[in-house]
Amino acid sequence: MVTPGTAAATPRPAGLRLGLWGVLALAVAVTAFAQPRLEAHYLNRAGQADTATLRLATEVLRGVLERTEALPALIAERPILAQLLRDPENSGLVPFTNELLRQSALSLDVSDIYVMDLQGRTVATSNYRSDWSFLGRSFEFRPYFTDAISDGLGRFHALGTTSNQRGYFFAAPVIDRTELLGVVAVKISLDRFEETWANAESTIVVTDTSNVVFLSDRADWHFRTLGPVPEAAIETIARTRQYPPGTLAPLNARRAPLNDAMDLLTVTGADDVPEEFVSQTMLIAAPAWRVSILTPTAPAIAQAWTALGIAVLLVAVGALLAAVALQRRAQLMERIERQRSAQAELEARVQDRTRDLDAANALLRAEVEERRATEARLRRTQAELVQAGKLAALGQMSAALSHEFNQPLAAVKAFADNAGTFLARGRLAEARDNVGRISAMADRMAAISKHLRNFARRPQDKTGPIPVAAVIDDALELMAPRLQASAARIDYEAPGPDLWVMGGRVRLQQVIVNLISNALDAMERQEAKDIGIRVETDGTATEGTCAISVRDRGHGLSEAALAQAFDPFFTTKDPGKGMGLGLSISYNIIRDFDGTLSAANAADGGAVFTVTLRRMPGPIASGRDTGPDTGPDKGPDTGLAAE
Ligand code: ADP
Repeated sequence: MVTPGTAAATPRPAGLRLGLWGVLALAVAVTAFAQPRLEAHYLNRAGQADTATLRLATEVLRGVLERTEALPALIAERPILAQLLRDPENSGLVPFTNELLRQSALSLDVSDIYVMDLQGRTVATSNYRSDWSFLGRSFEFRPYFTDAISDGLGRFHALGTTSNQRGYFFAAPVIDRTELLGVVAVKISLDRFEETWANAESTIVVTDTSNVVFLSDRADWHFRTLGPVPEAAIETIARTRQYPPGTLAPLNARRAPLNDAMDLLTVTGADDVPEEFVSQTMLIAAPAWRVSILTPTAPAIAQAWTALGIAVLLVAVGALLAAVALQRRAQLMERIERQRSAQAELEARVQDRTRDLDAANALLRAEVEERRATEARLRRTQAELVQAGKLAALGQMSAALSHEFNQPLAAVKAFADNAGTFLARGRLAEARDNVGRISAMADRMAAISKHLRNFARRPQDKTGPIPVAAVIDDALELMAPRLQASAARIDYEAPGPDLWVMGGRVRLQQVIVNLISNALDAMERQEAKDIGIRVETDGTATEGTCAISVRDRGHGLSEAALAQAFDPFFTTKDPGKGMGLGLSISYNIIRDFDGTLSAANAADGGAVFTVTLRRMPGPIASGRDTGPDTGPDKGPDTGLAAE
C-alpha cells in the first residue's frame, strides 16, 4: 500500500526534464533577443564616454592651428626679412635674422620659422643651430610655398623631409611695399599631441582627405590608409613629398554603422588580428582633417555579455523558481485532492457504520421495549399465577379444611346441646365449661379463616423487619390440618422472639408453607414423615444473616430437580397435583427480600431447602403489620399443630 507521504515525495523526472528544457529554451531566446541590443547599448555608451575626449582633442588641435595660422603674416611684416631677402649674402644680417627667428620660435612655441627666397631656398631659419638646419635647402616643391606666393597664404601638413618630424606648415609672402621678395614659413610639430593621447584606452586618429593616417597614438598606423587613396592624390603626395615614399599601406579597415554618430570599425593590422572599435569623427575644416576616436569594443562587449549572463541567470532562476513553485502547487493540490477523497471515503464509511449502528440501536431499542413488555407481561402472569397457585393450594387444602371446620362445628353442636342439657338440670358449672369450649372452638375457626384470607388475597404486605419465630409459627399453624392429616412429625426448635429478619411477613410465611407442603409431598408414600425446621444465625452480630432450613426424609431431589426446581412449571408431580410454581414463586419472593433460596440433598437422605435472609436489629417503631403483636400468630392457640 502506498502511503500519501511516499506518493507526495516521489520526484517527477519527466516534468523536471521538461522544465529544464523550457528554462534552456527561454535562456536561448533571451540571449538571441537581448544580446544584440545589449551589445549596441554598451557600445553606444562606451562611444559616448569618449565623445568628450574626441571633442577636446579636436578643439586643442584646431586651436593650435588657428593660433598659428596668423603667425607667418605677422612675422613677414618684419623689415629685417625684406632686407635679408634683398641681400641674402649679407654676413651680418643672416646670423642676426637666424637668431631673431630662433628667439621668435621659442617665444611663440612653434617648431621652426624660416624664410625662403622666391626660388624656395631657405635664407634664414630658426633651426640654424641644429644638425638638420634648413639653411640653403629648397622647399619650392612644397605647396605651402607656392600657395603663399600665389594666394598669400600657404598651409600644408607633411613629414619634414629634413627634420623627419610631422608638422603643419603655414606660410605667408614677404612683400616689401608691392614687391614680393620671398616666403616666411612657420612649422608646428604635431608629435606632442600624440603623447597626450597615448595615455587613454582609446586611440585617436587624424586622417587627411586622402584617408592617410597622419596623426595617431598608434605609431604603427602612421602613414597608413584607412580607405582608398584617390589616384590624383597619389601623384600629389609624391610630388609634394608629403609622406615618405613606400608608405601608405592600407590598414584593411571595415566600417559598419552603429548609430547616427558612430561606426563600428574593424581594423586588421599587420599581425592579422582584427581589432574592433567604436569610431566617431569630428572635422577640422581648414586642413580638412578628420579626427576620429576609436574606442575598443572588447570591454563593452564583455560588459554586455556579463549583463546578459546576469539577466539570463535571473530569468533562469526566476523560471526555475516558478517551475518549482508550480510543481509544489500541483503536488499540494494533488495532496489536498487525495485528502479530500480520503475524507469523503471516511465520511461515507462512517455514515455506513452509523447507519448500521442506528439500525442496530433501533433493533436493540425495539428488543429492550419488547423485553420490557415481556417482563411486564411475565410479572403480570406471575402475579396471576401466584394467585392461581394459591387458589390451587386452597383447593388442595379444602378437603382438609372442611374436615377441620366440620370437626369443631360438630363439637360446637355437641357442646351446645350438652350445655342446654346441663342448664336444664341446673348444673351450671358444667354448662359454663361447655360454653367456654364452644368459644374456644369459634376462636380456632376464626383463626383458620383469617389465615386462609391472608393466603388467598394478593400480597400487600410491606417489606421490613419481621420476627422469624412468629412467621414460622403462622406457617405451621396454617399447615396444621395437613400435617395432622398426614401424621407428619415436625422437629422444630423456635428461635427467640428477638430474632428479626428483612422480609414481608405474609410472603415469607407463604414460602415456608410451600416448603413444608413440598416436604410432605416428597414423603407422601412413606410411613414416617419427619420434617426438620432449623433456624440458624451466623454468630451474634445483629446485622448478619439468618438461615431457615426445611429438611425432609423423602426421596430427595433428582438431578433434573436440582438443576431446575426453581424454574417455573418444573414439576415431577402427577398431572393435576403439581403446577411447578411453588418454588419458582418462593424463589422470587426471597429474592425480593434481598435473600436467597437454595436446594440441596441432605447427606443422610431427603431434601433440604434453605432460606437465607438479612438479620435486622428489631421492628421499625411505626410498623404495624410487621410487629409481633399484630401478626396472625397472636391469634388464639388452635391446638392444630398439637393434634
Ligand atoms: P410442585 O410442587 O407444584 O411440583 P414446586 O415448584 O413446589 O412445584 O416443586 C417443583 C418440583 O421440585 C417438584 O415437582 C419436585 O420434583 C421437586 N421438589 C420440591 N420439593 C421437594 C422435596 N422436598 N423433595 C423432593 N423433591 C422436591
